[in-house]
Amino acid sequence: MQNANRTKELHRLSISGMCCPNCAEKIKGAVCKLPGVEKADVNFMQSTLSADINDVQPEQLISAIQSLGYDARVIDDAHGSGGNPEGSNPAEERISRLEIIGVVISALLVGLAGIGSLNDWFWGIRLGLIISAIVICGRSLAWKGLLALMKFQLDMNFLMIVAVIGALFIGEWVEGGVIIVLFAISELLESASVNRSRRAIEALIKVAPQTAIVIRNLVKTTVPVDEIKVGELILVKPGTTISLDGVIRSGRTTINESAITGESLPVSKQREDKVLAGTINGEGAIEVIVSRGKGDTTLDRIIKLVRQAQSERAPVQSFIEKFARYYTPVVVGLATVIAILPPILFNGEWSTWIYRSLAMLVISCPCAFVLSTPVTIVSALAGAARRGVLIKGGAYLENLYKIRALALDKTGTVTEGTLVVHDVHKLDGITQEDILRLAATVESHSEHPVAKAIINRAEKDDLEIGTPSNFTALPGQGARANVGKDTVFVGNHAMFEELEICNGDVHSLLSEIENASQTAVLVGSPDKLFGVISVSDKIRATASATIRELRNSGIQKVHLLTGDNWKAGRTIAELLGADEVSAELLPDQKVDEVKKLREKYGSVAMVGDGINDAPALAAADIGIAMGAAGTDAALETADVVLMDDRIDRLPWVFRLSRKARHIIMSNIAFAILTKLSFIILAATGNATLWMAVFADTGVSLLVIFNGMRALNCK
Ligand code: ADP
Ligand code: MG
Repeated sequence: MQNANRTKELHRLSISGMCCPNCAEKIKGAVCKLPGVEKADVNFMQSTLSADINDVQPEQLISAIQSLGYDARVIDDAHGSGGNPEGSNPAEERISRLEIIGVVISALLVGLAGIGSLNDWFWGIRLGLIISAIVICGRSLAWKGLLALMKFQLDMNFLMIVAVIGALFIGEWVEGGVIIVLFAISELLESASVNRSRRAIEALIKVAPQTAIVIRNLVKTTVPVDEIKVGELILVKPGTTISLDGVIRSGRTTINESAITGESLPVSKQREDKVLAGTINGEGAIEVIVSRGKGDTTLDRIIKLVRQAQSERAPVQSFIEKFARYYTPVVVGLATVIAILPPILFNGEWSTWIYRSLAMLVISCPCAFVLSTPVTIVSALAGAARRGVLIKGGAYLENLYKIRALALDKTGTVTEGTLVVHDVHKLDGITQEDILRLAATVESHSEHPVAKAIINRAEKDDLEIGTPSNFTALPGQGARANVGKDTVFVGNHAMFEELEICNGDVHSLLSEIENASQTAVLVGSPDKLFGVISVSDKIRATASATIRELRNSGIQKVHLLTGDNWKAGRTIAELLGADEVSAELLPDQKVDEVKKLREKYGSVAMVGDGINDAPALAAADIGIAMGAAGTDAALETADVVLMDDRIDRLPWVFRLSRKARHIIMSNIAFAILTKLSFIILAATGNATLWMAVFADTGVSLLVIFNGMRALNCK
């Protein structure tokens, strides 16, 4: 009976015991083969598996994973989307003290066995010491290797064991012991450092409290957040973290929003202001009407996006994984040839050539390659998120450096977006107050910066704002709604031209307003114009410096796109230092402009405020949205989101992309060069086995450490 609603569910499991992205591939392969699994993905950096399953119990997934020598458990997402305070962290994988002690003891045993020469009296004891060391360190390795072998997979663990047994076989006991101990040490170091970068990500996933004080019938009770509905009233005490999104009903305070925006300067808030879950309340107690319930808050969405971002593969990553897939079999093949052919064909010494071939086996591990990208990308994404920049995946990070042209939206992006009303011009009988009141009533359902300006002014003038019905936003033009029985239009000139109710007087008034570089907002009914409200906006103080900086980093063309009038567009373009401006555009015309830029410059980024720029954001190679703390549309459609409205973060984003790319490329080059030169050294007999282990795992570690530098891009 439960099966009925079991179909097609997304399950998340946390996996432990993965040592490099290869393990992740192995697990993914095994899970995908299970009947009823539609899609599965294993994320190495998060140590998680997510699978779409049909009529399969999660337990079956777990046992499939266990049969490969790893462990797994179900993550309870229902209670953990914001992260449980304890235990939810899937990435956290502590290295047990037992493992460390085991490695230390093995190292001592091998060291002890290394004293004295090979043919002396105590050879039996020495062999015993080495074998105990191998058993202590290599047990789980051998087990995983065997399990993989049974599934016909060329597994690193298995190859290591072959190398160790081979070394014992040709009488290089101590080296056999050294290999296994070094390998175990490096595995520990590797997982410790990968864990460190995992923690950097998980630290972002800030936890909103699991309870809140709700006020019901004047009684305050502390209840779990999932029992609180939208519209209920909660009390947030000073110094506590806010648990749900909402609007302040009473009280004033300052709030630290760094969890969302990366900006640690507190913002002052009062009645009617929005507050977000995960942000920290300052000195005032506030009562908040909940607008978003558990699982739906801005923080929850960000967490979801950050997690998705990490599982998106960057193109280099797929490339390098493909490379790794060929690399190992080729090197293993080469090692086999080297072990067998020279002794048979040229009468070479068996032990010499087997030794050389074993050294090659040791470096056939592709870990260094496959680790070179994900650690870097995840560190870069985490570093960005910490600064309030949400990048939705490695591919965007990787592609940012290719951008040559920038399309910029004007209102709210280049300008502050906090418009002010200058004047209300009346045209036809209706008083200025009535014009403002009607406009504000329509706009009360709109999110546009123009709407906010009109509402602010109406409130300042103590006008009574009504409730509109049948509100429709006409993107790039204005809005329409019913106020009482009448239909009222509020919007730009083009919209009223379509209604055909403009006349000569109106045109001269409009050009007067536009000549002052202001924006004219017309208010009217389907057959009559009531009046015109003039509004204006300030360019952001940092905008022109930002553009200059971007030009230095390879942006060749800056094109301002606006739905506003030409005059206002040109004024701002000049202040900004843009190369070109297009005005009076509807949202789909912005898309056309972006397409034209793409044709000419190849790679284009569009920066917009996300309210009506969504189509243009989607049309660009990279869509960058401003201030997503306000609007959902931006968060959903953009590829890069600047959470705190700060356009001056853009140059940094481009720098981060270049730095990450640089690190990845140098990682890959370094790994390939060292491994190739080592293969040559090994084939010509210039490498020892333990040098091989160093060359193999040392490279992996360096690649990880190098990747982690992306976390702190300046
Ligand atoms: P931009 O491209 O500069 O961000 P938009 O495309 O958002 O501008 O809007 C274009 C023009 O349409 C605005 O300058 C404004 O005159 C008008 N407009 C859009 N939405 C509204 C609205 N809700 N109320 C009044 N005017 C609006
Ligand atoms: Mg806009």
